[in-house]
Amino acid sequence: MPKPYKLVLTCEHASARIPVKYRELIPQSYLRTHKGLDIGALEAAEFFSKTLRAPLIAGNVSRLVVDLNRSPHNRTALFSRFLQSLDRDKKNRILNLYYLPYRKAAERQARKLARKPGVVLHLSIHSFTPVLYGKVRRPDIGLLFDPARKSEARFCRRMRTELKRLDPGLKVLFNDPYKGISDGMTTALRKKFPSTRYAGIEVEINQKFPRKAGKKWRALKKILAKAIWAVMI
Ligand SMILES: [Zn+2]
Repeated sequence: MPKPYKLVLTCEHASARIPVKYRELIPQSYLRTHKGLDIGALEAAEFFSKTLRAPLIAGNVSRLVVDLNRSPHNRTALFSRFLQSLDRDKKNRILNLYYLPYRKAAERQARKLARKPGVVLHLSIHSFTPVLYGKVRRPDIGLLFDPARKSEARFCRRMRTELKRLDPGLKVLFNDPYKGISDGMTTALRKKFPSTRYAGIEVEINQKFPRKAGKKWRALKKILAKAIWAVMI
């Protein structure tokens, strides 16, 4: 019996790496903050990849250079304010070296899985800062999806039920702190596959867990992996 879902993981904001060429343009102080990378996201994505035996495509450049979670037409959002003044050729070089290989690798993996029966389940793993511009953000876990796509809504409802069963205190919210239909890797892949063959969900983890590390963070990663597995089988 084939499983209904075939899992692929991506992590767009995995890295704080700034290639030498651009180091002078970007303040070092930004690199270890949520502005340089999604704290804890790669660690979670690698854990899911290992425990759920799923392929993972992870970015290897900071979003302060190029944002792997934005579409090519979204040019002002692609490049951080530190690199906005680079000329067109220099920006194209960044796209060719860092951006396009990542985006193509993610699409290639989704296409490979789409050839087998069932729904491709793409989980794009991110994390968010607990307080932004003085405002405390409510979710512990945010599940971002397109409510118009049945396979995504169904997965998220079941995922929330599983998470609540494993930890009733966990605050799991839909399309919070961001909307699932905003520009992103999942939004781009939705255009390539129908809802019956592809479900793209952004899993947003509150950085208060990885920042503290320790027991709670380890437990949360396990709970998330268990819940994904429970919904998949
Ligand atoms: Zn992110």
